[in-house]
Amino acid sequence: MRVLIAEDDPVSRRVLEASLKKWGYDVLVACDGDEAWEVFESGDGPRLAILDWMMPGLDGIEVSRRIRKQSNEDYVYVMILTSRGQKQDLIDAMAAGADDYVTKPFDAGELRVRVRAAQRILDLQDEIIAARESLREQATHDMLTGLLNRPAIIEALQRALDHGEREKSRVGVVMADLDHFKRINDTQGHKAGDTVLRESVRRMRSVLRTYDSIGRYGGEEFLLVLPGCDEDGAIALAERIRCCLGEEPVRLCRNSLEVTASFGVTVVEGCRGQTADSAIMVADEALYLAKERGRNRVERARGEPAGAC
Ligand code: GH3
Ligand code: MG
Ligand code: MG
Ligand code: MG
Repeated sequence: MRVLIAEDDPVSRRVLEASLKKWGYDVLVACDGDEAWEVFESGDGPRLAILDWMMPGLDGIEVSRRIRKQSNEDYVYVMILTSRGQKQDLIDAMAAGADDYVTKPFDAGELRVRVRAAQRILDLQDEIIAARESLREQATHDMLTGLLNRPAIIEALQRALDHGEREKSRVGVVMADLDHFKRINDTQGHKAGDTVLRESVRRMRSVLRTYDSIGRYGGEEFLLVLPGCDEDGAIALAERIRCCLGEEPVRLCRNSLEVTASFGVTVVEGCRGQTADSAIMVADEALYLAKERGRNRVERARGEPAGAC
């Protein structure tokens, strides 16, 4: 773990640095408060700061106050190491955001366990953040394909529509549905169906631009959100995906399968009050038409054929 020490007295600094290094920490040294703050201000400071109180320029208390004002996700644990031993000093330091307070000259054994306690707290915070991120991922993503799930892609569409309204730009909306997918499950088994779903998603993603979004809207239905895309662009993209899906069979354990999909395309102009639901409904109608007209094709909302590969 990286630790920053800020100490203006060269002798104390060397003793502190040597102790921390001996205990296995990666030590960054600042000779005064200004230097220490520069490190944290850059946003790449260590998670543990051991600050002397009295230093030229910014003192340790002010550095501590500034660290707390920063809205960093990663918590910085601040320990004040000072010769000031009054109760009120400790109160002032903790009120300024310090987490711990050690008086000089420090006892090596005591400092070592206090630094370990700091590390435990920082490790706990890391675990909490990781757990939160994992819950967020689970709440917004589909486990099988790794795509955004239905609520998350609807939210992404609504965000894109709101942005399109503000910027007076268009949003392409495509609903894609694998053709006769039930047959794959029925003849090859559910596991093979899962493989086909994952491979289809990989192929669809390979065609999308970085600022497009795709989500699993239902079992074998996918919603694509294409910001800044006019109708021709949205249709061309859907066609590229259609071709990419059908280009070569999906390989399974014992055989391989042709996979095709149908697409319904609509474009929402940057006008007021467009909802994700209404855009999805229109794209869905176009998809229905594509199914009706023979599948493995792209149809636009008004129902005109949208060209072929
Ligand atoms: P169409 O061309 O009209 O879309 O026909 P289809 O067979 O694709 O459509 P249908 O709605 O009849 O069947 C969809 C199938 O998708 C039924 C369901 O069991 C299957 N399915 C949904 N989710 C999953 C999944 O996660 N894994 C697997 N293997 N199959 C799934
Ligand atoms: Mg000092
Ligand atoms: Mg289907
Ligand atoms: Mg379907």
